[in-house]
Amino acid sequence: MGRKIHDLLLQSSNSKRCGNDTIGDLVAATGKKRLWSDRAGDVVDVIVIHYISAVERFPDDPFCLDHVIPLFAEYGASSHYLITRRGAVYRLVPDQFKAWHCGGSIMPQPDGRRNVNEFSIGIELLATDTSGFTPTQYRLLGMLCHTIEQSRGVLMTYVGHEQVAGTGAVEMGLRSDCKVDPGLLFDWKRFFRDLGRYRRNAADKLQK
Ligand SMILES: [Zn+2]
Repeated sequence: MGRKIHDLLLQSSNSKRCGNDTIGDLVAATGKKRLWSDRAGDVVDVIVIHYISAVERFPDDPFCLDHVIPLFAEYGASSHYLITRRGAVYRLVPDQFKAWHCGGSIMPQPDGRRNVNEFSIGIELLATDTSGFTPTQYRLLGMLCHTIEQSRGVLMTYVGHEQVAGTGAVEMGLRSDCKVDPGLLFDWKRFFRDLGRYRRNAADKLQK
């Protein structure tokens, strides 16, 4: 990957500062050592796209990491990666473990598998329901997804959180709240165009 992925692991041994606390302090306060768990199986073939921000508490500064990172500890949630508005990529959970980003969830038909966390990688984009996404975020998202595909040696399936934890999952009784991210402002065509470019470049290089 052209740009570095910065480690910001959501575990109690992480001494990196986050506002007045360390990330380790925030995680330890949940009573857990890390905000992830073992996967039940070996298959990881789905990437789930999310957005996150601290807009409810910090409407004037919703994308500051010092405001956003504590939310994971607060909600007992996690994702594998987070991409900032300027395109910095952070790893919060190692790929081989299960992050807690989907909750009660089911893949669209005909797949239909439940508990999407078990076989997916979660990527958070810093955004709100009205901010949209930056060109740099699309580019880095494409690059990151392509890097994941190359490291796993497979093409992944891509879904939004709303597709696996939206009205369908609520109607089936898998969860009570209906997820809406990444929402209508996320441009899937643009994402697949960017991802396609990285896939083609890699294929071209192989042929040369
Ligand atoms: Zn989400």
